[in-house]
Amino acid sequence: MNPAGAPRAAEPLVHREQPPADLLVRGAHVLDPREGLDAPLDVLVRGGEIAELGDPGSLPAPDGAEVLDGEGRHLFPGFVDPHVHLRTPGQEHKEDLDSGTRSAAAGGFVAIVAMPNTDPVVDDATVLRSLREAARREARIPVGFLASITRGLAGDSLTEMAELRDAGALGFTDDGKPVHRAAILRKALQYQRLCGGVLALHEEDPSLSGRGVMHEGEVSARLGLAGIPSISESTMIARDAAIAGYEAGRIHIQHLSARESVAAVAEAKARGVRITAEASPHHLTLTHDAVLERLDTRLKMNPPLREEADRAALIEGLRDGTIDCIATDHAPHAREEKEVPFEEAPMGTTGLETAFAAVHTDLVRGGVLPLGLVVEKLTAGAGLLGIATPRIARGAPAQLCLVDLGAEWQVGEAGYESRAENCCFAGRDLLGRVLATVAAGAVVYRERAFALSPA
Ligand SMILES: [Zn+2]
Ligand SMILES: [Zn+2]
Repeated sequence: MNPAGAPRAAEPLVHREQPPADLLVRGAHVLDPREGLDAPLDVLVRGGEIAELGDPGSLPAPDGAEVLDGEGRHLFPGFVDPHVHLRTPGQEHKEDLDSGTRSAAAGGFVAIVAMPNTDPVVDDATVLRSLREAARREARIPVGFLASITRGLAGDSLTEMAELRDAGALGFTDDGKPVHRAAILRKALQYQRLCGGVLALHEEDPSLSGRGVMHEGEVSARLGLAGIPSISESTMIARDAAIAGYEAGRIHIQHLSARESVAAVAEAKARGVRITAEASPHHLTLTHDAVLERLDTRLKMNPPLREEADRAALIEGLRDGTIDCIATDHAPHAREEKEVPFEEAPMGTTGLETAFAAVHTDLVRGGVLPLGLVVEKLTAGAGLLGIATPRIARGAPAQLCLVDLGAEWQVGEAGYESRAENCCFAGRDLLGRVLATVAAGAVVYRERAFALSPA
């Protein structure tokens, strides 16, 4: 068995090989906070690698290279989403590898990590291996996979974690469900010492969340709907941080939604617990008031949209480093599954195509967060899961997204790349359009109206 952190036999991410790009992005405002880049530049990509950076207009386009007009546009390191539901195997009517990675590419993502709550559950190496084989044929951008912590997500017995790591699991999660038995989580952390891989945790105490369908508060009371209290999340985080600290294990908290949860993570970090956390664009930009305005099932997700003070705490958590990254929790459902009364609808919103634009519109344009911080948080999920972080630097593999920050578009107006339509931002006018995405050195997405001119 390999010690924690040692390289495994299997490559962490898989995708369908595509021809490496030769292209020149001319004069875009290049923003990569980790590389200290924040200026208009020419970026030359040759054979899928960043070959040269130069002043605008200084780099000639090599023969056969495509030229992307970057003037007035922004070029970012491509985004990485550590929390995506691709619904395959078993629920391909909601999403699959092709549609999910197409949706990701359209949102500027160059790598995503898929959750194991599929049918069958990714709880053994055979399922994982065949899924990775499928990704080698179908995935448009690199995809990593988490395996489940417990067999069948039942919470009773651990999966063969070491074997799953050898088969390519980036880490483990029972996402969709909490690991409700403390002793099981403890044992998983002990195995983690032997085989590495982060444990990503969906935090919820089912005895508190019960049959709740939205945040427990004023709005749920007015609507007469069963609520999910914030303490359902925060008390589990406190418990799991204590166990992780005791075992010196490494945990990642998924989709923080409540201010008490942000406080619990901050407190654990201050004690030296190896804990990281993510927040989703919807929790950063919406509250339960949206549910009151229109009892729309696209606004039903788990954890639920909470209160303004919670949203403010999440934003502050991003700013002060308590929250390490932004993750979408892209959760596609078929139209007929969501076209039912609010109480009966399944939990989840899609998010890959709107992640950047939603955060940019509400938080960056709103003067709440700097653009550089948002770019950093949309790429930071890579490092947390042991994936190389995309960067704009000579010699680095080209993982880029070109964005027009001033372009306004209405969510859903032109349909979605995802197979699903359950987007909580549907109908909203957002600012910031992804024009092109380069993942693993290949052009994987071009916005329809964005013309590519040959050199
Ligand atoms: Zn979850
Ligand atoms: Zn999820």
